[in-house]
Amino acid sequence: MTCPTCGGTKVLRGLGKPIHGPCHWMEIPCYRCHGTGEVESVQAIWIEEGKYLREFREKRDWSVREAANWLHVLPSEWSKAEHGTVDPSSVHGALQQRVLKDLAGQTRDE
Ligand SMILES: [Zn+2]
Repeated sequence: MTCPTCGGTKVLRGLGKPIHGPCHWMEIPCYRCHGTGEVESVQAIWIEEGKYLREFREKRDWSVREAANWLHVLPSEWSKAEHGTVDPSSVHGALQQRVLKDLAGQTRDE
């Protein structure tokens, strides 16, 4: 399927900042599809699941490191799961367990 990150254009545009001179728009090969414009459909599912992790983290205004510490996973694990470059189901599972545990803890405190 078409890569959702670059939309099949195979490149990403970003504002580059050279050491000397003004910022300018640069094109870099898409990191998701490695410049092919296509991704495996299983990876598209990972990307969708990863978006949930990002939303979860951003709602709490956490950095990747803070979220990873909270969940007791490596920041690199969280980051890869969030970007959908790996299967995020293990991080997802841990997150659900942790959320449930927190909810149970809150109920007990009341
Ligand atoms: Zn791409």
